[in-house]
Amino acid sequence: MADVIHLLPDSVANQIAAGEVVQRPASAVKELLENSVDAGASIIKLIVKDAGKTLLQVIDNGKGMSATDARLCFERHATSKIQKADDLFNLSTKGFRGEALASIAAIAQVELKTKQATEDLATLIEIEGNEVKQQEFCSAPEGTSIAVKNLFYNVPARRNFLKSDPVEFRHIIEEFQRVALPHPEIAFSLYHNGQEVFHLQQGNLRQRIIAIFGNSYNERLVPVDEDTSIVNVGGFVGKPQFAKKSRGEQYFFLNNRFIKSSYLHHAIQMAFAELLTADSFASYFLLLEVDPKTIDVNIHPTKTEVKFEDERLVYSILRSAVKRALGKYNIAPTLDFDKETTFDFIPLPKDATVKLPTISVNPDYNPFAEKQETTKHTVLQKNLDQPSFEQFMAEKNNVSQQEMMSENETTVLLPENETQVLQDASLHYQLHNAYVLTHIKTGFMIIDQQHAHERVLYERYVKQMNANHSASQQLLFPVNVELNAADYELMLQLADEIKLLGFDFSEFGKNTLIVHGIPADLTEHSTRQMIEQLINNFKNNEQELNLDKRDNLAQAMARSMGIKTGQKLTNEEMANLVNELFACQMPYSSPQSKPTLTTFALTDLERRFKK
Ligand code: ADP
Ligand code: MG
Repeated sequence: MADVIHLLPDSVANQIAAGEVVQRPASAVKELLENSVDAGASIIKLIVKDAGKTLLQVIDNGKGMSATDARLCFERHATSKIQKADDLFNLSTKGFRGEALASIAAIAQVELKTKQATEDLATLIEIEGNEVKQQEFCSAPEGTSIAVKNLFYNVPARRNFLKSDPVEFRHIIEEFQRVALPHPEIAFSLYHNGQEVFHLQQGNLRQRIIAIFGNSYNERLVPVDEDTSIVNVGGFVGKPQFAKKSRGEQYFFLNNRFIKSSYLHHAIQMAFAELLTADSFASYFLLLEVDPKTIDVNIHPTKTEVKFEDERLVYSILRSAVKRALGKYNIAPTLDFDKETTFDFIPLPKDATVKLPTISVNPDYNPFAEKQETTKHTVLQKNLDQPSFEQFMAEKNNVSQQEMMSENETTVLLPENETQVLQDASLHYQLHNAYVLTHIKTGFMIIDQQHAHERVLYERYVKQMNANHSASQQLLFPVNVELNAADYELMLQLADEIKLLGFDFSEFGKNTLIVHGIPADLTEHSTRQMIEQLINNFKNNEQELNLDKRDNLAQAMARSMGIKTGQKLTNEEMANLVNELFACQMPYSSPQSKPTLTTFALTDLERRFKK
């Protein structure tokens, strides 16, 4: 049989490659702008017509190309940026694959004008579908101008696939910003259909952010600056009070290249955790610098993901750096300490009898047994101080957030009589079996019962696990709990920690556990259900969050044991909940950063009633 394999002509190969490199006008913009940055330009101008469908032109004052290079740059794998494989591990340029111009020229009509400082004349090349139509000398200023006309003119399927002009232009703006933000030392401008859209002068990062996003950003930015041997972190985060309800401006740049990382994004969220409500997003413009050797850059040209050598450590450093920045600039939480002390805890009358608390899931827990604990009131900013090296290391070794918190806390002891549980039932009121309304001196407060109780339990479980002691009650009749194989495995893996939560169990074989003891505050009939819920919550957390095992378990357990929305509470239960909540280190948010309470000032009421 005849041979059937043959090599594709360059033009076809390039067109295939172009499909990967150039998906839409914005991808070409990114490549052209990056080439200009790599060429050392200090002024870069982007001219766009019809959202790039008709024209994309980038003009720079960079180092330009020789006549030979001007011809060569359109060849595939033609690059001046690396020479040998080793160079891949020491990249300082944005490009290195030598594919962009070849790809763009395969699917557009391109006109290149370029001149080096040492030459008298510039080179003009016109190329179309990878075919050189014209090459001549001409006069032009120093630098390079590349005009890309009629993108996808020879790939109608692609052209038809493009979105409307406003959508495509938005993508262009996004790419433009991603290149311009980390390079404030370069002046950038952008014109669309003859109108100037951006005019960014040379300056510093703060000025660049303001020039792009508006003057109002000036007061919103908190500088982040942390140099470590592994990564240098610079840039800004937005103050929490300006957080947006929709994902706003969130930019990571790694060695000045825009990257996306949901993992690092999570680090920022954790740093903000206590300061933001769950439905708001902090903005950030963070520049990370690492030794190029420690990252894997050999990624797809259009991909923005990156692989670090030690991602966990970068995560911890980033989180600490942002926390520290927020602390240093004293981002006052909405409820500051002054207000906190005004919570009105009325002392018990001398001869009053104290009833045992009766929250149903928690029959044996006596808040008065831990008086020392309940007299603790802590300031919200306690964990925002400068993290020490030990803390970095502690984080590296995966110490829980909770443990970290306890290191720097400022503990304020309130007078004994102010910390007594509020037993006057009339001062609590349950709304829709979901919220507890209570008096405070300055007005009133509404507590979300589910979030609040999760916070209370979470802190209790973390403490219990860290103290290595568990409150377990032995069952009169051990209970067999049969699980599926995967859950059974998970239970065995987590056995040590789960035992610290108060469960006492052994293997019965055949995916069955025999449970001898349960946490002191769990009633017997729900053993199986509780274990199943615990496993489910744990697995959910594992998928969505990056918690350490203990944190995850404490959250999972708090979630399954906690009072739920819809549950009717007695007056005593409400009183206990309020009291226990304010004995917490971080009473204002649930372990998953949802708010536990909101306050209303009397002055607000007075205003409403026009007093
Ligand atoms: P890469 O950027 O990966 O090297 P490109 O196809 O984007 O590949 O560019 C090929 C080469 O063309 C570059 O390595 C560079 O030498 C040259 N080049 C491209 N754009 C410019 C420019 N604006 N100024 C100077 N040289 C350029
Ligand atoms: Mg390039």
